[in-house]
Amino acid sequence: MQPLCLIPWTNIDIAPRGNIQPCCKYEVPNSEVMNITTNTIQDYVQSENLQKIKQQMLDNQWPQGCIRCKTEEESGIKSKRLLDYERWQEAYDNYTEHQGFITASIAFGNTCNLKCITCNPGPSSRWRKEYRDLYGIDKPPVEVINNMTSEDIYRALPNAIHMDIPGGEPFLSEVDKQLELLNRYVDSGQSEHMTLHYTTNTQVYPDAKWWSLWKNFKEVDIQLSIDGVGNRYEYIRYPAKNTVLLENVDRYLEQQNIHNIRLSVSHTVSAYNIYYLDEFFTWCSDVGLPRPWCGRAHNPSHMRPCVYTDPVRTSIAEYLDTSKHDDVKTWGKYMKTNNSSEHYERFLTMRDKHDVYRNTNFAKTFPEVEELINGF
Ligand code: SF4
Repeated sequence: MQPLCLIPWTNIDIAPRGNIQPCCKYEVPNSEVMNITTNTIQDYVQSENLQKIKQQMLDNQWPQGCIRCKTEEESGIKSKRLLDYERWQEAYDNYTEHQGFITASIAFGNTCNLKCITCNPGPSSRWRKEYRDLYGIDKPPVEVINNMTSEDIYRALPNAIHMDIPGGEPFLSEVDKQLELLNRYVDSGQSEHMTLHYTTNTQVYPDAKWWSLWKNFKEVDIQLSIDGVGNRYEYIRYPAKNTVLLENVDRYLEQQNIHNIRLSVSHTVSAYNIYYLDEFFTWCSDVGLPRPWCGRAHNPSHMRPCVYTDPVRTSIAEYLDTSKHDDVKTWGKYMKTNNSSEHYERFLTMRDKHDVYRNTNFAKTFPEVEELINGF
């Protein structure tokens, strides 16, 4: 029988602070947390929690942690579950359990040069001071992968066909250990069958050693994570510089003629940028970047795109409906059918708190949204 989602069998996700979970969209309940710094991959494979998730999938029930896929599908948005089925259909159709994990997402650490407003000290070390200053909580950087777990990963995934390497910023996080693991796949010959996917904040451009390593892989998808245009980009991806972004986008575009290099774009849709989706899609098309893949901010809940109270939320939805981009119209539907306005006051409070700390200005950076807020 085909399970609701095959990913708990085929994929392992090691998050920036070391939590082990079925995929990056899975929201691990506190009672289920396992961490690579204290557990082995075998502990995770044999855990009661993973067995329970698999059983729910076989019973065609959504596990509690899969709320994001469920909500997105109910809003007509393609979830990770559906996207992964499309992408790996052949591997999934031929999958047998003895293969173990064939895909993985491994954040080697949380070293990052940015503190994006939708992020936190979990995935980004740059957030540490601001978080400590404003909330009194200290989250030291994490070295997720030591030599033993790198070996552990290779042994658990000798037949890997795909690896996601998110951040922190992947070209700054535990670079030597990444190279060590990937070179094992080059030495075994498996790299010829493997695709790699990086999510980079585009403020760091990989040097020659990366391009040389990547020649050995079947395909390398470099996903540029960009959450806005111009000063809106700089506000959300603080303290990124738009000039550096534009320069690096040009350099990446020049590399597209390498046969196994593919460029993609991701965009985290939040309360900050939901109104500006049409602007972003048009910008990508104008500079020659591919159509962006959009994921929504879900936690913290006050960052959700649908956090606005009515009639602001409806006005944003109606504006999105006027876009010439079908993807943007889909987000209009999402805004009409989702409502997180119980977190709106918190959004305003947190927005102002970080504006004061960073000397940024929401009203000047997002004037159209500010006008909607003040107009009602
Ligand atoms: S349903 Fe979604 S969140 Fe759950 S395991 Fe599958 S892809 Fe991950």
